[in-house]
Amino acid sequence: MLTAKKVKEFARKCGADIVGIGSMERFDGAPKEMDPRYIFPEAKAIIGFGFRIPRGCFRGIEEGTYFAAYPSMGYAHINLIFAPTVLRQVACMIEDEGYEAVPIQNMVIGSSVDILLGKPTRISVPVSPNKPAPDVLLHFRIAAVICGMGEIGYSKLLLTPEFGPRVRLAFMLTDAPLEPDPIYDGPPICDRCMLCVKECTGKAISPDRTVKLKVAGKEFEWGELNEERCALAYTGGAMEFNPFYTGELEPIRFEEIERDSGGYTRPEFETVYRKLRYNVNSVAVFHHLGAIEGARGCIRACMIHLESQGKLKNKFKEPFRKRRPWTIAQ
Ligand code: SF4
Repeated sequence: MLTAKKVKEFARKCGADIVGIGSMERFDGAPKEMDPRYIFPEAKAIIGFGFRIPRGCFRGIEEGTYFAAYPSMGYAHINLIFAPTVLRQVACMIEDEGYEAVPIQNMVIGSSVDILLGKPTRISVPVSPNKPAPDVLLHFRIAAVICGMGEIGYSKLLLTPEFGPRVRLAFMLTDAPLEPDPIYDGPPICDRCMLCVKECTGKAISPDRTVKLKVAGKEFEWGELNEERCALAYTGGAMEFNPFYTGELEPIRFEEIERDSGGYTRPEFETVYRKLRYNVNSVAVFHHLGAIEGARGCIRACMIHLESQGKLKNKFKEPFRKRRPWTIAQ
């Protein structure tokens, strides 16, 4: 008999670091475009898989000397190779038991959520009036909460008791009747230290405007995220944190970038994405943008803080931050 225990043990053996299971009714209230029940209406459970980003993927960025480990091993390898391999093995195991399993990896190629966000990139139409336009886009962090894997921190990142924010996600829908885990109800992980806000290179997280959302009866609140500032900074737009800047970019004034003030068609995006040599090379070699700023606030600062509080299960003999953080003199 296929049980939740059997699925979890198998997924861990295949390489998942965290596995949680949620029930489908916990998606009640989700916008149609993000409701996985439109993907597999007969699904009885969603399985969440967490894959740690090894802490060492951030070491070279922290030192300012080796940036490739994060876009390659911290992003592309997990999302494009390792997690899909685990998803495939678990899907085959579930289907050998006579149930169907829909794998959902962390990669988007076209989504009706673009329309929700007001972006001018509509690339699909609904196949019938009662369905959302494809592709339905699962909200990964909310889905992880639904699977009992952790909480959403002020940074809007998923914080897990094992690795804090240092985790990537993948999911699976199945009609196997697997017993759900409870929603995470352990000690709060985020203590509103606000280091994610202070150390974010793109000033992308609001210190005072917040978003509240109730998921499966539990309320979460996070700082409003300016996704445009985030995307620009993360790919190297914050020049004092970008040693690969060699004159291609005009200085970007992050404070002046409003949310949804032009979407990803802004000329700054074009320049950072397509002209900054490091990003061009990173996409060519790793199939992923450079992620040059190395999640300075929402992952590194947060992780340093949570580790110093002894809140994470993944313990290290030495603290991560060993020297004063660098910036390039202006
Ligand atoms: S850095 Fe601090 S405020 Fe931000 S998510 Fe982490 S614990 Fe919460």
